[in-house]
Amino acid sequence: MAYDWLKDIEDHYDIVVIGSGLAGLTSANVLAKCGHKVLLLEHHYQLGGLATWFTRKGGHMFDISLHGFPVWMIKSARKYWSQEIADAIVQIKGIRFINPQFQIDTTFDREDFTRILIEKFKISAKTVERFFTDLRAMNFYDNNPETTGEMFERYFPGRDDVQRLLMEPIAYANGSTLEDPAITFGIVFSNFMSKGVYTFQGGTDTLIKKMALELKANGAEVRKHVTVEKIVTKECNGRCVATGLVANDRLIRCDAIVSNANLKNTILRLAGEENFSPDFVAQTKEVRINTSSCQVYLGIRKGETLPHIGDLVFASEESKFASEKLVGKHTTSRAFSVYYPDTRPGSNRYTVVVSVNAKYTDWETMSDEIYQQEKMCLIEESITALEKLIPDIRAKIDWSEASTPCTVEHYTKHWSGTSFGTKFEGLKVSMELPQQLPGLYHTGSVGIIMSGWLGTINYGVIVANQVDKFLATKRRGSLASSPLSWKKLNS
Ligand SMILES: Cc1cc2nc3c(=O)[nH]c(=O)nc-3n(C[C@H](O)[C@H](O)[C@H](O)COP(=O)(O)OP(=O)(O)OC[C@H]3O[C@@H](n4cnc5c(N)ncnc54)[C@H](O)[C@@H]3O)c2cc1C
Repeated sequence: MAYDWLKDIEDHYDIVVIGSGLAGLTSANVLAKCGHKVLLLEHHYQLGGLATWFTRKGGHMFDISLHGFPVWMIKSARKYWSQEIADAIVQIKGIRFINPQFQIDTTFDREDFTRILIEKFKISAKTVERFFTDLRAMNFYDNNPETTGEMFERYFPGRDDVQRLLMEPIAYANGSTLEDPAITFGIVFSNFMSKGVYTFQGGTDTLIKKMALELKANGAEVRKHVTVEKIVTKECNGRCVATGLVANDRLIRCDAIVSNANLKNTILRLAGEENFSPDFVAQTKEVRINTSSCQVYLGIRKGETLPHIGDLVFASEESKFASEKLVGKHTTSRAFSVYYPDTRPGSNRYTVVVSVNAKYTDWETMSDEIYQQEKMCLIEESITALEKLIPDIRAKIDWSEASTPCTVEHYTKHWSGTSFGTKFEGLKVSMELPQQLPGLYHTGSVGIIMSGWLGTINYGVIVANQVDKFLATKRRGSLASSPLSWKKLNS
């Protein structure tokens, strides 16, 4: 008989969290700390969502999304997780750009970028200062329609080299393009510029294990191998509310649900169109899914070493930066993350992870044969590109494999295998969800701004606070002050 992954769970929880990405984990932890009875359900055999890792024969361990995040992770980790997790966050200083327009080594912070923009790119100190100051002051509520490309033209007219310096790393970090609202660049770039790029020493495996221990210590119930199939709703005091869900063929009742599943999955597949106004359904359908990724994982044979070529190397053979070129199937624009032994203190191993942005539509319809051929091509092109940085690398590699947007879709169930959630308009839909269906909240990578490790952790906290307020109101018996559902408004 199949093992029951929901064995001994209770019939009712205050909150059920769907999915264990960093937003789901953080929401669950904050709510458990507040004293709520929390159940977290994850369909995969491992927690972490895209914050994940895997091991391979030969002692290799690969991190998927541990490439870099802003310094503010230290504060969020300390406040919403633990001092121990915060203490393991360290700066990486070796960021390199290698492309036909320039070669630069930088610590990727405001001071160093100011120096580079003035000395190498000959931009006036006044313009650089104004650019950084204006970016820092950007506000989500300003509703500024200017795109990132238009903003660059305003400060650095005709300078596609400057545009590349500023944009290329952010495009890798959140899938944003020159056509996206300037705020999607401004917030993320400013966060990095404040103090550079940071990583978690010990690897993603250590981080997620520490988070799982913390969740347990705070009383949250966590179950893996559990797929949520449906959100259950009920008419309550004349309005429709979320009252539970079906997971692994079992009904679990709850007062609130936090879904860390993809926004469109949550609304259109798990809850169902019938629970929302036609207008909201239309808005949801119009939300654009952000891009996905391909990666190549290269394991270096035990005993071999690599020279220090930088921690993060943005290499490209394209003559100029173009958002569309970055996602092409045979792009020459790649981000190399080199993991030296100090990534996991005590280890003496090296790995290289090569990341490229990608389109799901380029991969979804391939036959198995072509799919395998394209993956081999991805590996070969990546090794050839890496040989330009480390000429003898090929002989040192004893494990190589590739992932594609279909891999992301398989492991996370994300709509179109998105790595970076939705485009900007998704944030409004995510925030308005509980007004449509009280009791149902969404958290996780959405709207470009709320993506990446820092963005999703912080959005997890924001949503946990909303759920906490909702439950407090509900317990006082005054659901009247909670948002009206669409069904009530129309009945
Ligand atoms: C290749 C790559 C590189 C990246 N590099 C960086 C980086 O260097 N720095 C950075 O800050 N960010 C990076 N990111 C982005 C970052 O990893 C994500 O933004 C973040 O981890 C997403 O967290 P999330 O909370 O949105 O959930 P996700 O990680 O997307 O997790 C959602 C979870 O929900 C689960 N789930 C979905 N549906 C169901 C269901 N029906 N039932 C049960 N469980 C379900 C999934 O299995 C998954 O575990 C990268 C991403 C990728 C793909």
